[in-house]
Amino acid sequence: MIDAERQAALDKIAAEVSVCTSCRLHRTRTKAVPGEGTAATEVVFVGEGPGFNEDRQGRPFVGQAGAKLDALLGSVLWSRDEVFITNVVKCRPPENRDPEPDEIAACAPYLTRQLAALDPALVVTLGRFSMARFNPGARIGQVHGTYRQAAPESGAPNALTFAMYHPAAALHQGSLNDTLFRDMLGVPAALIEARRLRELATEAAAEATHPTRPEEPAGESESVPSDAAATTEVDTDAESDPTDQLPLF
Ligand code: URA
Ligand code: SF4
Repeated sequence: MIDAERQAALDKIAAEVSVCTSCRLHRTRTKAVPGEGTAATEVVFVGEGPGFNEDRQGRPFVGQAGAKLDALLGSVLWSRDEVFITNVVKCRPPENRDPEPDEIAACAPYLTRQLAALDPALVVTLGRFSMARFNPGARIGQVHGTYRQAAPESGAPNALTFAMYHPAAALHQGSLNDTLFRDMLGVPAALIEARRLRELATEAAAEATHPTRPEEPAGESESVPSDAAATTEVDTDAESDPTDQLPLF
């Protein structure tokens, strides 16, 4: 997809989100918060859900947690207009309570479609609700600061996912602030690895369409991840292909 098509897809999703009534959160919201950033990005940051200020402005991460996210991006010389920022649920849970499982499920198709439109190389999850979607069963205390292949059902089958604590956690617990900034330093490195894997997948796809070495011994061609070829389809074998397994620690 070219960037204009990606943007058109994102605009359509945002328009639907702004009038969505699919879960109880629509009753208490002021504005829904679809997300924002550039359609041309390789990196998507996914938070938990809008807070007080986000609900008023209809924009993600504009309050204190947003200032922390800006500082984290700045620490690796990135800025928010170079990435895309969104949340697991698009409407504010009352009193900033945790989102309920049925609310997350109701809102999931929007995030899935945003990811499909953006086809990011890297998804940075902020907090455990976001992590759970891309890395089900993981514990944030163990996996923060590390990356792995995103679960294909997340909507980002060609992405690595990098787990971070939620920026708001550092506001309540000072020791997590250092951890957050240290973990952030690993994000550009994860992006480099994600690019490398996508290039391999693209090469494997080209090879599958136009084989240039038909005589190659079987053993060698098996080392090419044949299932990593799909750029738009769900890569259902990603978990089982050893070439896709990335170290967690
Ligand atoms: N916290 C989140 O998880 N998302 C926001 O958009 C703001 C605060
Ligand atoms: Fe719709 Fe998501 Fe808002 Fe629920 S949280 S009303 S599913 S946009």
